[in-house]
Amino acid sequence: MDIQAAKQKATAGVTAARDDLIEISLDIHAHPELALKEQRASKLLADRLEARGFAVERGAFGLETAFRARWGEGPVTIAYLCEYDALPEIGHACGHNLIATAGLGGALGLKAAVSPDAVTLLVLGSPAEEDVGGKAIMLERGAFDGVDVAMMAHPAAVDIADPPMYGVEQCHVIYKGRSAHASIAPETGVNALDGLVLAYQALAQLRQHIRRDARIHGIITYGGAAPNVVPDRAEGTFLVRALQLPYLADLKARAGRCFQAGADASGAELQVIWAPYTYAPMNNNKPLAAAYRANAEALGRAFLPIPVESTASSDMGNVSFAVPSIHPTFGIGAFALNHTPAFTAVAATDAAHKSMIEVAQALAMTGVDIVLDPELLKAAKAAFGGTRIG
Ligand SMILES: [Zn+2]
Ligand SMILES: [Zn+2]
Repeated sequence: MDIQAAKQKATAGVTAARDDLIEISLDIHAHPELALKEQRASKLLADRLEARGFAVERGAFGLETAFRARWGEGPVTIAYLCEYDALPEIGHACGHNLIATAGLGGALGLKAAVSPDAVTLLVLGSPAEEDVGGKAIMLERGAFDGVDVAMMAHPAAVDIADPPMYGVEQCHVIYKGRSAHASIAPETGVNALDGLVLAYQALAQLRQHIRRDARIHGIITYGGAAPNVVPDRAEGTFLVRALQLPYLADLKARAGRCFQAGADASGAELQVIWAPYTYAPMNNNKPLAAAYRANAEALGRAFLPIPVESTASSDMGNVSFAVPSIHPTFGIGAFALNHTPAFTAVAATDAAHKSMIEVAQALAMTGVDIVLDPELLKAAKAAFGGTRIG
C-alpha cells in the first residue's frame, strides 16, 4: 500500500475519534487518581479499546490498573503506551490524561490505516509512572516480549523528538534515635532529626560538586512529634538522577555515604530503603525519533531547535533498553512546567487537546512508517544498542 495514502487514513482515523479522545482526556483530568489506584482511567481506556475491536486483558501483568489491548496478527508488533496516574494534591500536573489519549488515538489511527495481517497492534496501559514504575514491573513480567517498537509521547513545555531523560534511584531513609525531654535531660537522648539534617546538609553540599547531567534532591517527611521531645525518629525521601548509568551508580554510593555520615555523627541508627526499580535513562531510538519528528512537522508542529540538558525521568527509560522506543515531548499551547498547578490547568485546555490530537496523528503516521517501510524498522533495530536493565 502507498505510504502517503495510509498516513492520510491514519490521520483521518484520529480525527474521527477526536471527540471521544477529548472526552476521555477531560474525564481522566477531572478525576485524578494516584499511582496504582487508576481504576477509572484504566477502565475508560480499556472499555473504549474493546468497543473499537481490540481484545482487552484487564488487570494485566498482575497489576490491577494495567491493561493490554491487542488487535491484528501481523508480523510487526507495535506497542502504544498509555499513562494515567496523577500527582498528590496537584492532580494531572504531568498531563498524563494527554499521554493516555495520545496513545489511544495513535493506536486507533494506525488501526484505521493498515490491515490486521500487517501489524500486531498493542495498547499497554501502564500505571504508576510517578511512583513505583509500572512499566518496569510490566517489563519484568513479559509485557514487551516480542514487541518490535514501543511508542508514547509526553506533554511538556516544548516539542522534543528525542529528549534526554535521567535515570533515577529513589530511597526512603529512616533514622532511629532515643527520645528524651528536650530540656530536663537532652543528654540522655539520641536525636534522629539531627542525623537526617546532617545527611541533608551533606547531600546539599555534594550536589554543588556533581556533573551537570545529574541531580540530587529530597524532602524530610517526618521530623519529630513535639519540639520539647528529642525526636527518636526522622524520615526523608530522596532522588538521585543521572543521564549515564555508571554515574548514577557512583552518585547512589556517594549519597549513601552522606546518609551514613548523619548516622555516625548523631549516633542514630540508619535504615536506607532503595526503591526496587531503577528508572533507566531514556535510550532514544534515533531513526524512530526522526520518523516521528518528520511526521509531526508535516502536521505543523515545531521542535525546539537547541538541545536541552535539564530534564526529568520516566520508567519508559527501562522499556527503551528492552525494545526500540521513543518518548517525544510535546508542548500544549501555553508555557508551563510539569509538576506545577499551572500545568494542571493547561492540561485540560482546548490548546492542549489540539496538541494531543496532532501528536496522536504523528504517532499513528510513525506506526504506518514502521509497518509499511521495512527499511525503517531495520534501521531502528540496527540503532538499538540496548540491553536489559537488571
Ligand atoms: Zn511527572
Ligand atoms: Zn509524566
